[in-house]
Amino acid sequence: MNLHEYQAKELLQQFGVAIPKGIKVTSQQEAIEAAKEVRHGGPWVVKAQVHAGGRGKAGGVKFVRTIQDVEEVSGRLLGSTLHTHQTGPEGVKVHQLLIQDGVDIAKEYYLSCLVDRSTKRVILIGSSEGGMDIEEVAAKTPEKILTLTIDPTAGVQPYQARDLGFKMGMGKKEVDQLVKVVTGVYNLFVQKDCSMVEINPLIVTTDGQVMALDAKVSVDDNAIYRHKDTAEMRDPTQEDEREHIAHEIGLNYVALDGNIGCMVNGAGLAMATMDVCKLHGGEPANFLDVGGGATADRVSRAFKLILSSSKVKAILVNIFGGIVRCDTIAEGIITAVKEVGLTLPVVVRLQGTNVEAGREMLAKSGMNIMAADDLTDAAKMAVAAAAK
Ligand code: GDP
Ligand code: MN
Repeated sequence: MNLHEYQAKELLQQFGVAIPKGIKVTSQQEAIEAAKEVRHGGPWVVKAQVHAGGRGKAGGVKFVRTIQDVEEVSGRLLGSTLHTHQTGPEGVKVHQLLIQDGVDIAKEYYLSCLVDRSTKRVILIGSSEGGMDIEEVAAKTPEKILTLTIDPTAGVQPYQARDLGFKMGMGKKEVDQLVKVVTGVYNLFVQKDCSMVEINPLIVTTDGQVMALDAKVSVDDNAIYRHKDTAEMRDPTQEDEREHIAHEIGLNYVALDGNIGCMVNGAGLAMATMDVCKLHGGEPANFLDVGGGATADRVSRAFKLILSSSKVKAILVNIFGGIVRCDTIAEGIITAVKEVGLTLPVVVRLQGTNVEAGREMLAKSGMNIMAADDLTDAAKMAVAAAAK
């Protein structure tokens, strides 16, 4: 789950990282009042709070010098849809703004924290190339990406942070402050079960202060039950509607760009099903794992979720009945179709416990279902059906 910039900055501040003064607002009037409180006479930065980066280039971050401009920019941004290179064509709705002190930047750096799967360690990534697309820096000038691997038993050692700072090109005064930033970022990452903490840019102001000018935090959904504070930061308006519904029902669902709706049990089988679809020239519309202990009701809701997407042109059901029984799956599908109707072609591959009963139920249901025994055949049938 992603957090907004203002939430990420609140967390960073709790962990000792300096941030510019700012107030989150939801109306034009609040924006004007916040500006007056944040910095008498300005300048300010008006920042759209959306779950996407690249706001600056898309007009979602505006440097303004007068209260009239705060009012004008806030009015324009609130309620608008922002399109950045990370949002896709639908864009994201702007409901909240951060009215922030407009600071003078001397230099922009990059700092992030994530898990490196190859070393199985938490790492910090630093770069002198702040404020830019870090993927581009990594592709064009990989030598400018510096990594720091953290030993989980020792935690961040100050010397490591200093070493990183000097390699990033910072002077002694900045490096001393960086130690606090790196320690704070690492502690936030570990203590709040984050999957990513990113500060881009981390700046040095003209008066020598190191602070987080922008921040992105993603928390691990699987650990969110341990963190009431971050769980409450969820903003459903920024999430895919179907992903949000799935989350409420307790399904593992990820919306994708293709047109084949997939309903599968088990994350591994779901991945394999998507791979086989792609292998045969298809594009999955979603990843959906109904889970091992799925009931007919959950299956029915999952099936309705797939049907509710206008992108979906064909449905592929791939179930290996182990813990979940094939007749339960069939019952769920039939219930969903009775309730919402079905105009799409459905390919079903069932194997495992109670497979005969499940197949028979589907055959007798009168639904237009293409049955397949084997995954390759099933995928080919779904790809062909979606292409029609
Ligand atoms: P992003 O485009 O979504 O990553 O949004 P950022 O918060 O990173 O803002 C984009 C850029 O706007 C930054 O890299 C800065 O160059 C600039 N910017 C943001 N806030 C300030 C500020 O307070 N002062 C100045 N001078 N520039 C800012
Ligand atoms: Mn940024």
